[in-house]
Amino acid sequence: MKFGTKAIHAGQEPDPSTGAIMTPVYQTSTYVQSSPGKHKGYEYARTQNPTRSALEANLAALENAKYARCYGSGLAATDTVMKLLKLGDEVVCTNDLYGGTYRLFTSVYAKYGIKFHFINMLDLQEVEKVVSDKTKMIWLETPTNPMLQIIDIKSVTEIAKRHQALTVVDNTFASPYLQNPIDLNADVVVHSLTKYIAGHSDAVMGAVITNNSEIHERLAYHQNAVGAIPGPMDCFLVLRGIKTLHLRMQRHCENGAAVAQYLKNHPKVAKVHYPGFSEHKNHEIAARQMKDFGGMVSFSLKEDKKEAAFKFLERIKVFSLAESLGGVESLAGHPSTMTHASIPAEERIKSGISDSLIRLSVGVEDIEDLLEDLENALS
Ligand SMILES: *Cc1c(COP(=O)(O)O)cnc(C)c1O
Repeated sequence: MKFGTKAIHAGQEPDPSTGAIMTPVYQTSTYVQSSPGKHKGYEYARTQNPTRSALEANLAALENAKYARCYGSGLAATDTVMKLLKLGDEVVCTNDLYGGTYRLFTSVYAKYGIKFHFINMLDLQEVEKVVSDKTKMIWLETPTNPMLQIIDIKSVTEIAKRHQALTVVDNTFASPYLQNPIDLNADVVVHSLTKYIAGHSDAVMGAVITNNSEIHERLAYHQNAVGAIPGPMDCFLVLRGIKTLHLRMQRHCENGAAVAQYLKNHPKVAKVHYPGFSEHKNHEIAARQMKDFGGMVSFSLKEDKKEAAFKFLERIKVFSLAESLGGVESLAGHPSTMTHASIPAEERIKSGISDSLIRLSVGVEDIEDLLEDLENALS
């Protein structure tokens, strides 16, 4: 089955009791048993919920995988993956990581005796240098946030496998429409469903997807034992959002390309980061491992000052100034004071997040209105 058909149908059967074509919101905490231990596969809603199960089956199909589990947020999903580790284990990760992931690793899990190495994963020799027998996991994001660097997933998994380490890919920025890390030999995929997958800025949720049954059993065990589950109404909203994921992504990519090109030609713009440009450092890899180049674009101003970026952000009207990304509406953000404020200044500058850097999540509005808005704000 092709992607769009899976997005609409995978995991979703008409409701057996009524024929309802939409998976119902099973807003229930428990299920009746006919005799102790005799039930229909559902006992208690932390453990199983049919709305959640439908979403999980759908997400597994979108990533060409066998298993998916959903959690209360993208970070709760990440947290569950970290619970695969134990004291003394080491993790090698990309250095321009999502700010919340960086915070979870450095200020929560580091305290439990897990060691993190933040490196520039564009350089595979850097990966070889820090990977050791203690490395149990390589964690990467691609495209990265907010610099939109592209990491070669397949090459990283080859290094990881030689050291018996798992490769985990946070696939939030690409979405399963553009990139399927499991097909590139990654072991685990993490998504913040809050972004492109739900797509309408109306739910916060995360998922972990894998083909490895042992990993899946532990993820499922922790889903129940820890309890960071999403509610059934949110699962319904995400399922509904997914039905148009392929349509939305096509428009996000078209608009993203047009915005990137426009900014590149603007006299007030210093640099545009967008993997679709042939001069982008890893454009070839992006073209190989992604279907298209996505709707995220970031750029810095010639006047490289916070004040200049703020002025732009106060003047935009169709774009909204807000955290987050991946919704139908266009958003703009200032990474150094917003999403990446929890990263120390010197780390931030080292990874290119300058004071005037602006990150755009280009939505699916009419491109003429988006370009006019950028023009007005820049002038
Ligand atoms: C938003 C985001 C997360 C965290 O997800 P939440 O749903 O906000 O908890 C993780 N990784 C990336 C790349 C994100 O953009």
